[in-house]
Amino acid sequence: MTPALIILQLAIEVAFAFLAIRTVVSWVRQPDARHGNLALALSALTLVIVLSSLFGGSGVQAQLFTDAALIMFLVSGYGLLMFRDSFVPLSPGTTRAVTVAIVVIGLLGIIVQLPANPETPHTELQSLVLVATIGIWAFCILEPTVTIWMSARGRPSVEQARLRAISIGYAGLLLVVVVGTIAGSLNNFLSLLLSLTALAVVPVLYVAFFPPVWLRRVWRQPEEDQFRHALHDLLLYSPDRGTLADRALVWAERLVGGEAAFVLDSDATVLAVRGISASDAADLSKRSAYLKPEGKENGHAPWQSGSTVVVPLDLQQGRGAIIILSGRLSPLFGDDELSRLRQYATSISAGLDRVTLNSRIAALERAKTDFLNIASHELRGPMTVIKGYLTMLDAGALGDVAPKARSVLPLLISKADEVNWMIEQMIEASRLEEGRLALKRHRSDIVELTDSAIEGVKLLLSGHELRVDTPHQPVEAEVDPDRFQIVVRNLLSNAAKYSSPGTDIDIEVRRDGDKAFVLVKDQGIGISKQDQAVLFTRFGRVDSSSHVQGTGLGLWLSREIARMHDGDLTVESGNGAGTTFTFSVPLSP
Ligand code: ADP
Repeated sequence: MTPALIILQLAIEVAFAFLAIRTVVSWVRQPDARHGNLALALSALTLVIVLSSLFGGSGVQAQLFTDAALIMFLVSGYGLLMFRDSFVPLSPGTTRAVTVAIVVIGLLGIIVQLPANPETPHTELQSLVLVATIGIWAFCILEPTVTIWMSARGRPSVEQARLRAISIGYAGLLLVVVVGTIAGSLNNFLSLLLSLTALAVVPVLYVAFFPPVWLRRVWRQPEEDQFRHALHDLLLYSPDRGTLADRALVWAERLVGGEAAFVLDSDATVLAVRGISASDAADLSKRSAYLKPEGKENGHAPWQSGSTVVVPLDLQQGRGAIIILSGRLSPLFGDDELSRLRQYATSISAGLDRVTLNSRIAALERAKTDFLNIASHELRGPMTVIKGYLTMLDAGALGDVAPKARSVLPLLISKADEVNWMIEQMIEASRLEEGRLALKRHRSDIVELTDSAIEGVKLLLSGHELRVDTPHQPVEAEVDPDRFQIVVRNLLSNAAKYSSPGTDIDIEVRRDGDKAFVLVKDQGIGISKQDQAVLFTRFGRVDSSSHVQGTGLGLWLSREIARMHDGDLTVESGNGAGTTFTFSVPLSP
C-alpha cells in the first residue's frame, strides 16, 4: 500500500469512528429503538472497518479478528435494517426471516472458519458462506435504500428531504463497504479514487442522520413561503376557534413533519385533531400532563416527551397546547424545529384569543340587538295609550281640565312624541340588524314627503325658525315613503336638538343631475372632523352632546336607509360652525 492509501484508510477509520460516537451520544440523549439501531449499525460498521485493517496473517488471533469482523458486519446490516424498520415498518415475517438468516450465516461463518487473509484460497463451503454474508448484508442495505426513497414521495418537504437524505446515506454505506472489499485488488490509482469517494461519503452520512440547522432550513424553505401566506389567512379569516385550531394543526405538522397532532384548550378539551381521533387525543391528554407538566408549569418553550412535542399556547383564559406526535416517518425533532414551533405558537395563541374576543363582541352585539328589539316593542304599547289620552285631554274629549294643567299638555304631548320617535328608531334599527328592513319603494314626490316629515316633527321644531325652500314642481323618486320620512325627520329633530332655541334651521329640496337632494342646515354646536367618524356608527354619539337625549341610532339608520335607496347621507360641519346634512336619492328615470 502506498503512503497516500494508508493515510486515506486512516482518515476513513477516524471519520467513521467520529460518526459512530455521534450516533451513540444521540442514543444516550434519546434512548429509543430508532437511535439505538443507528448507533448499533454505525458502531459495528466502524469496528469492521478498523478490524479489516488488521486482517491477514494466521493463527488464533487473526482468526478471532476475522470472526469478530464477520459478526460486526452482520450486526451492522441488522442494525441498518431495523433503523429502516423504525421509519417504514417491515412485516413481522420478514424481520423474523432476516434475523434467523443473519444468525445462521454468522454461526456458519464461525464454524467454517473463513480465512483471515482474503487472498488465501477458499473451500467451496467458505465461498458459499462468504456469498451468503455479502448477500444478506446487501439486502439489509439495498432494500431500505429503495423503500425509504420511494416512501418519501408526496410527503411534506421536511420529511421528504430527510427520508431522501437517509436513503442516500444507505447507498453511501454500501459504497464504503464495496470500496473496502475490492480496493485491495485494484491498482493504486483506482484504489485511491475509491478510497477518496468512501471518505467523501462520511459527510453525506453525517448530514443524512444529523441534518444541521441550516440544511433543515433549506429543506423547509419551499414550505415556509406557502406557510407565511397561509398563516396570514389563517389568523385573519378563521371564523371560530375550532376552525383556526384545525388549520393551525395542518401547518404545525407540516413544519416539523409530525404524523398526528391535536390542540388542547385551556380547559383541557380537545379543540382540533389531525391524524388521530378526538377520543384518542382526549385519552392521551388525560394520561399525560400536557398542560401542567412537572417543573415546566410556567415555561413557554416547547418540550419533548418521548416521541411527542408539546408546544404551550399562552391563551388569555389559561394554558393550552399543541401536541405533535412524531410518527415512524417523521424526522427526529431538532432545536431549530422547536424554536420555529415556539414562534408559531405565539401567532396561534394571539389568533385564538382574537377569535374568542370577536365571538364575545358578537355575542354582546347580539344581546344589544335583542334588548333593542324587546325594549322597543314593550314600550310601544304603553306609549300609544299615554299619547292617545294626552291628545284626548288636550282636545277636551275627557271633560274640562284646569287651565294650569292644560298649559302643560302641549309639552307632555311633545315629550311623548319624542319618546315615540325614539321607539320607532329602535324598532327600525332592530329590523335593519336582523335583515328584516325591506323597502316598499314606489314613485313618490319627495317635496310632498318632505312636507309631511316637517309636519311630523313640527312640535320639536317649535323653538326654532324653520325656513323651507322647495321647488314648486314635484321631484319624483322611487322611494319607500315611510323610510324616506324617517330620514328627514331624524335630520330635522337633530338640527333642533343640537342647536340653541331661536336659531335658524333651513331645509331645502333640489334636483341636480339625476339625483334629488334634501339638505338640512342648522346654526348649532357643529361636529368636529374627528367626531364625524363616529356619527354614522350604531350607537355612535359625540361626547360633547351627551347631555342631550338620544340613542345614537338615528344617523346610522338614516345612512343605511339612504344607501338602500342607492343614495347617500353626508355631513359638512366643524366645531361650532353649524351643520349641514345632505340626503340624496336617485331621481325616477
Ligand atoms: P342621537 O339619538 O344621539 O341624536 P344620531 O345618530 O341621530 O343619534 O346622532 C348621533 C350623534 O351625532 C348625536 O349624538 C350628536 O352628537 C351628533 N349630531 C347629530 N346631528 C347633529 C347636529 N345637527 N349637530 C351637531 N351634532 C349632531
